[in-house]
Amino acid sequence: MNISVVVPLYNEAESLPELASWIEDVMNKNGFTYEILFVNDGSTDDSWNVIEGLNKSNPCIKGVSFRRNYGKSPALYTGFERAQGDVVITMDADLQDSPDEIPELYRMITEDGYDLVSGWKKKRYDPLSKTIPTKLFNATARKVSGIHNLHDFNCGLKAYRREVVKHIEVYGDMHRYVPYLAKNAGFNKIGEKVVQHQARKYGVTKFGLDRFVNGYLDLLTLWFQAKFGVKPMHFFGLMGSLMFLIGFIAVILVGAIKLFNMWAGNHYILVTDSPYFYLSLTAMIIGSQLFLAGFLGELIIRNSPERNRYEISKEL
Ligand code: UDP
Ligand code: MG
Repeated sequence: MNISVVVPLYNEAESLPELASWIEDVMNKNGFTYEILFVNDGSTDDSWNVIEGLNKSNPCIKGVSFRRNYGKSPALYTGFERAQGDVVITMDADLQDSPDEIPELYRMITEDGYDLVSGWKKKRYDPLSKTIPTKLFNATARKVSGIHNLHDFNCGLKAYRREVVKHIEVYGDMHRYVPYLAKNAGFNKIGEKVVQHQARKYGVTKFGLDRFVNGYLDLLTLWFQAKFGVKPMHFFGLMGSLMFLIGFIAVILVGAIKLFNMWAGNHYILVTDSPYFYLSLTAMIIGSQLFLAGFLGELIIRNSPERNRYEISKEL
C-alpha cells in the first residue's frame, strides 16, 4: 500500500464526508493505493456514525474509536500503530489542511529520501491571537530541538516514512514535537513544504491559549529527556554540587569574617544574626536535595526498560 492517511478527530462530524471524498479524489487521480484511518478521539457528536457510513461505501476508509477523549497525541499514536502504507500522512479533520498536498509530500518521501516532511502554513487563516504566539513558539522549538529548517512544528499536515512512525512514541501532548521525537530517534532527514491553509469551515478549535504554556513545558521535558534521560545525575549532580559548594564556601566565609573581626578587635555580630548565614545554609540544603534527586533518578533509570533501548538501523 502506498499511503496511509491518519486523521485524528474530535467532534468533526460535519467535515468528515467532505474530507473523505476530497482525499479519495486525490488518491484516485494519482493512482495511489491507500487507506484512510479516522481515529475518533471520543467524539460526543455524530462523528462515529459518519465514519461507519463512509466505511460502508469505501472499505479503504477505516476507523478506530476511543471510549473517551484522550487528546490528539494518543489519537495519532493509535493511528501510527495501525498504519500500513509506505508513507504515512497525518492531517487534521477540520478541512484546514488540503489533501491536494498529498502527491508532492509522497514524492518528497519516496524520491527525495526525506524521513519526515512537515507542512508549513506560510499563509495562515487563523486569528492573530494564535499566529503571533506561534511564531515565538516555533523560534524556541527550533533553537531547543536543533532542527533549524522548520518553521511550523505543530502543523497537522505531515508525511513520514513508515519506519519513522513505527519507531517513535507520541504521547501526552507531544504531537507538537513529532519532528523532535523523530530526530531523537535518529531520523535526520527532516524537510518542509509550504502548504495551503484554510480557515476552519465547520466546528470550533479544540485547543485554547493554554497550548502555549503546555507547549513550552513539553519542550523542556523533551530537551531534558534527550540530554539527560538515562543519566539524570549528570544534570542534578552538577547543579547540586555547585549549589552545595557555593553554600559551603559562603558559610565558611561568614565564620571566618566573624573570627577575623574578633581577633582584630573590631565590632562583630553573631553568625546567626547575619542573613548570609541563612542564605548559605539554604544553598547547602538545596544542593544536597538536588544531588539526592540525581541519585533517585539514577535508581529509577536502572529499573527502566528504556535504559538499553537503541535504534538500530543496520546490522550484518
Ligand atoms: N483533536 C483530537 N483530539 C483532541 C483535540 C483535537 O483528535 O482532543 C483533533 C481535531 O479534531 C483536529 C485536530 O486534532 O482534527 C486539530 O485540532 P484543531 O483544529 O482544533 O486545532 P487547531 O487547528 O486550532 O490548531
Ligand atoms: Mg484546525
